[in-house]
Amino acid sequence: MWFYKSGEQVIEELKSDAENGLTSDEVSIRLQKFGPNKLKDKKKKSILWLLFEQINDPLIYILLAAALVSALLKEISDAVIIAVVIIINSIVGVVQESKAEKALESLKKLSTPKAIVRRNGELVEISSEELVVGDIVILDAGRYVPCDLRLIETANLKIEESALTGESVPSDKSYEKIEKTNDAALGDQKNMAFMSTLVTYGRGTGVAVASGMDTEIGKIAKMLNTDEKNLTPLQKKLAQLGKILGFAALFICVLMFIIAVIQKRDLFEMFLTAISLAVAAIPEGLPAVVTIVLAMGVQRMIKKNAIVRKLPAVETLGAVNIICSDKTGTLTQNKMTVTKFYANNKLEDISSFNLKNPTQKLLMNSMMLCNDATYSENSKTGDPTEIALLEVGSKFNIFKNNLEDLNKRVNEIPFDSERKLMTTLNKHEDKYYAITKGAVDNLLKICTKVYIDGNILPITDKIKSDILVGSDAMSDEALRVLASAFKEIESPDVKINSLEEDLIFIGLYGMIDPPRENVKDSIEECSASGIRTIMITGDHKNTAFAIAKELGIAQSESQAILGAEFDTMSEDDISERIDNLRVFARVSPEHKVKIVKALKNKGNIVSMTGDGVNDAPSLKAADIGVAMGITGTDVAKGASDMILTDDNFSTIVAAIKEGRNIYNNIKKSIIFLLSCNIGEIVAIFIGILLGWQPVLRPIHLLWVNLITDSLPALALGVDPDDPDVMKEKPRDPKSGIFPGKTGVFLLINGMIIGITTLTAFYIGNKIYKDSLMHAQTMAFVVLSVSQLFYTLSVRHNKKSIFKIGIFKNKYLIGAIVIGIFLQNIVISVPFLADVFKVYMLTISDWFFVILLSFIPLVLNEIFKSIRF
Ligand code: ADP
Ligand code: MG
Repeated sequence: MWFYKSGEQVIEELKSDAENGLTSDEVSIRLQKFGPNKLKDKKKKSILWLLFEQINDPLIYILLAAALVSALLKEISDAVIIAVVIIINSIVGVVQESKAEKALESLKKLSTPKAIVRRNGELVEISSEELVVGDIVILDAGRYVPCDLRLIETANLKIEESALTGESVPSDKSYEKIEKTNDAALGDQKNMAFMSTLVTYGRGTGVAVASGMDTEIGKIAKMLNTDEKNLTPLQKKLAQLGKILGFAALFICVLMFIIAVIQKRDLFEMFLTAISLAVAAIPEGLPAVVTIVLAMGVQRMIKKNAIVRKLPAVETLGAVNIICSDKTGTLTQNKMTVTKFYANNKLEDISSFNLKNPTQKLLMNSMMLCNDATYSENSKTGDPTEIALLEVGSKFNIFKNNLEDLNKRVNEIPFDSERKLMTTLNKHEDKYYAITKGAVDNLLKICTKVYIDGNILPITDKIKSDILVGSDAMSDEALRVLASAFKEIESPDVKINSLEEDLIFIGLYGMIDPPRENVKDSIEECSASGIRTIMITGDHKNTAFAIAKELGIAQSESQAILGAEFDTMSEDDISERIDNLRVFARVSPEHKVKIVKALKNKGNIVSMTGDGVNDAPSLKAADIGVAMGITGTDVAKGASDMILTDDNFSTIVAAIKEGRNIYNNIKKSIIFLLSCNIGEIVAIFIGILLGWQPVLRPIHLLWVNLITDSLPALALGVDPDDPDVMKEKPRDPKSGIFPGKTGVFLLINGMIIGITTLTAFYIGNKIYKDSLMHAQTMAFVVLSVSQLFYTLSVRHNKKSIFKIGIFKNKYLIGAIVIGIFLQNIVISVPFLADVFKVYMLTISDWFFVILLSFIPLVLNEIFKSIRF
């Protein structure tokens, strides 16, 4: 029971070292012994199980029954073919499934949290799986606790432990020993931090006491096997469509069978045909194709620095029409440099900074002491805003470490984006100083005096307004403004909140943070494609607007608003103004939620970025929550749909582009599969209505289904990106899978394919009067080859195949060649020709058949050229 023991005792028992942490050698020994710090994965599905899942499908049952009946009736070749079809189908299914699974798995790996530990005397960031018992672990707000820790140092540390205790109010932590009582419940172990709980406030250090499955959460470990399979909206619609199609196919088959009975056809033959048609008409490969295309799209997005955490996001991305973006670090580089300062009622260039002036000296010291960053020539860590403050110091040979040796920090109130302030309490000799830095407006509210040339004077309205004028002058130049203030206090034992009262204003720093390259172009690209960009920032309104203007986000000042102002607006006002607003400044995380909701109310599909602990609600509220990969906290990442590994705005746009392309590609696969299936139904059904002899044999249908449903459909799914995809407006997510006339288009194409096949049969029958087999063979080849050619046209609904480049999609060309090749083998290898009961076509037959097969493609291309 670690919490009964003192910190020192725990460290000693675990043979660790609070100052330096473990050595690398010791870590590798312990890793060997205890294994990685992770909770056991759920059991992987075995290949056999996957195979079973493939076969466990009503359609397959029907096919199996058909094979059985065929075998009983001594139609051995039919039985074998059906069996082969089932086997190939299942294998393809298993391969597809496991591929999709793997892709998803590698995604999960990408988002394992990081931990900061002290090892070999240095702070390093490692993957939390590499943690071992005895490691000294640093905690800060927004981070998941990576393993079970006995805390040895805390500064206002609060941890939310609902994952473990169900209690959602964060509990205060302390490093002090707990007196031995009977048995402290987890929630009462104030000096412990448990794996998978969440730091919501403050900082702390702990020594790892348990890792992996030995942790408290590992002991429960039930949450892990929640195998949530969240279907994307499209997948849900497809599942519905699948059901409808299933019933439709069943209906047609029954109808066909009845007609056949009336026509006194061979019943067994008709039974097989009906089953084969049902199998062919239901696009059973579709869900797998969709998953694979989505998963592969996700892989491609990773290369473009966007990690999609939830598959549905890929689809939603393509429909986004508003991007709400943070300013600092996303639109800008987050490389701050102090260029101006304000002290003693004067705004000056940083080059004329003078350390001999007491106010200026205090300004610098306060900015460096009330600071969590570290800075040296070759290593900078922490918030770029704070690094910039240390950088100024280093130019004047002042370093934080030296300052802190003389002014030890004894307490602190961390920065949060609600107060927009940060305070430290420092001890200098035997006096205590509170130092606060933060946003000018918020800081001025709590200042009652001002420090001018070494004197403490009351702060008058005049002085206040001068300060604001100085601050505005900086913000208008797009500078980020930071103010600082201080006060002396008697003893450190005061209420912590009282530190931020009655302060003495010192001065301001203004720092430049240049926009990122390419961001301007990305914003332009967005507006051309009907996507609005909105800047959301905690920064000053003028600063925000200046940058927004530079980037082309906003043109007039009326498009900028303060978070607080927005907060007080009535529903009606919001609804009236929201379409015009482009910049939200001095925003707190709560406002963000309100902004998202207001935008969504207007029917927009909103993407919102965030990084802080408090951003989780707005990320969840948005259609696409985007977390920052570099500066983002674990909480923000956990709540997000997508993570930007480079924190860059342009990456969001690239992801949207990719999302649109992926959606279009999936649609192409669907259109192709369905129009082909309709074609097959049309060919068989009309043939029967006309009282013709069977146009195709059942196994022909199964075969065509096999070669067209697999490779060509997948190849369409990975069609190369359409460079003009951003010239279109965002898709309306409310429209169904087939918006506008797509449904009619499908039917027409199905008819064309069906009629082309019938034509082949008709002519074959006319020429070779006594050979049904010959006519069937021609219909068989035309049905499959025309579908293969038709894929080329499906690649774009407006551009001609020449414009998009016939050979651009190599996979598709490959799929077509393989398809034709296999088709050729089936009819020209004598043994197979026997099984399929087909005729070896003559050269002129081939010529004719190929010509016919071009019809659907050519008609579609003509149609495109007329319409557009
Ligand atoms: P954003 O990330 O949108 O720029 P922040 O919430 O980080 O907004 O910052 C809002 C304001 O808070 C800034 O304009 C600045 O005045 C102040 N601020 C930012 N970082 C710090 C910090 N580390 N300490 C004190 N104040 C800060
Ligand atoms: Mg920030």
